[in-house]
Amino acid sequence: MIPYGRQDINESDVQHVIEVLKSAWLTQGPTIPKFEKQVAEYCGAKHALAMNSATAALHLSLSALGVKAGDSVWTSPNTFVASSNSALYCGANVNFIDIELQTFNMDLNVLEERLKKAKETKTLPKVVIPVHFGGLSVDMKALRTLADTYDFKIVEDASHAVGAKFFSQPVGSCRYSDLTVFSFHPVKIITTGEGGMVLTNNSELHEKIFQLRSHGITRDPKLMTKTPDGPWYYEQQALGFNYRITDIQAALGSSQFTRLEEFVARRRALAKNYIRAFEGLPISWQKEPASSESSYHLFVICFKDSRLREQHRFLHEEMIRRGIGVNLHYIPVYKQPYYKNNSYFPCPQAEEYYSQAMSLPLFPTLSEKDQSYVIQQLKLILSDLKITTELGPLEIRDMTK
Ligand SMILES: *Cc1c(COP(=O)(O)O)cnc(C)c1O
Repeated sequence: MIPYGRQDINESDVQHVIEVLKSAWLTQGPTIPKFEKQVAEYCGAKHALAMNSATAALHLSLSALGVKAGDSVWTSPNTFVASSNSALYCGANVNFIDIELQTFNMDLNVLEERLKKAKETKTLPKVVIPVHFGGLSVDMKALRTLADTYDFKIVEDASHAVGAKFFSQPVGSCRYSDLTVFSFHPVKIITTGEGGMVLTNNSELHEKIFQLRSHGITRDPKLMTKTPDGPWYYEQQALGFNYRITDIQAALGSSQFTRLEEFVARRRALAKNYIRAFEGLPISWQKEPASSESSYHLFVICFKDSRLREQHRFLHEEMIRRGIGVNLHYIPVYKQPYYKNNSYFPCPQAEEYYSQAMSLPLFPTLSEKDQSYVIQQLKLILSDLKITTELGPLEIRDMTK
């Protein structure tokens, strides 16, 4: 079976992990800050904190921003459940802003309408979490303008977007946001096994998250409420967690990170192959505006023809039967049983997307041969269904304005 995604670990990655295994520090050693510095410098952010998952990083981002019961957090419905769960961990309410069918990202026009109404009813969100779906940045300039107008914080869920760019700047610079979160799960762009990171330019948020990552404990005498009893002394000042990453993982991450540009270039080349092969077929794909350079964590196609939509399930089953591990990213989060009992803003576009979408295999070690097989099988299935009408290109949202 050709999977939809998988990691690429080379000998150098393995050696870096072995070095740590033979060293004095398996955790809380020097490799973690080294990895953090490497990522922060590349992205152009002041601070970075590695954690045991992006989920943990999202949780602490919201905690550090003071999100609590009674607050609202808005995000995209087209995401993994962790984006919105992080708000629920803080006791906040969550709501979903519909997506655009060109970029599969949160629709900022819909967001603006919702913000206008929320301002009247005094129900504005405290935080908005844009999700850079598939590695394609949300229009962060426009979102920043809305954040300034309606006074909310921005936490970028860039789990898919390590190595992506927005106006030539790496995602993670936090130029337009308060915090940015990366995931290092094996299907994502680079991996630490499990792991994540949060970046910020705000020293106060950095300090808070640093403490919350490890039980809310500080060992820094400058931060203590009283004179230390002795050299053993530490203070717990908040109810934190154990969200620490290990040096073993950081070694893998740090080594993988040196290969980031190679990974993204390969993903982009493979995405280009798909696009070239699909011109003229009754399917569409995520449109990349000129302002953005996607890291292509995912390559999602949508079946635009209503006849194909009726065959959505069959199309997935048929690809899997032919050894192609297609997947669907994502089930709109509010459809999950756990979320079902609340009322949310309607998201018709996310529903439409869900009825059409298919994630095709895309990862750096996908061979041209396997990719050709994927393309060929999809074309065969479509021609067997006798649905090959061409559809005009969809319009792209202009981000340069
Ligand atoms: C993978 C993912 C997460 C969670 O990442 P973990 O590192 O597995 O906790 C959160 N948000 C999105 C959009 C993701 O794809």
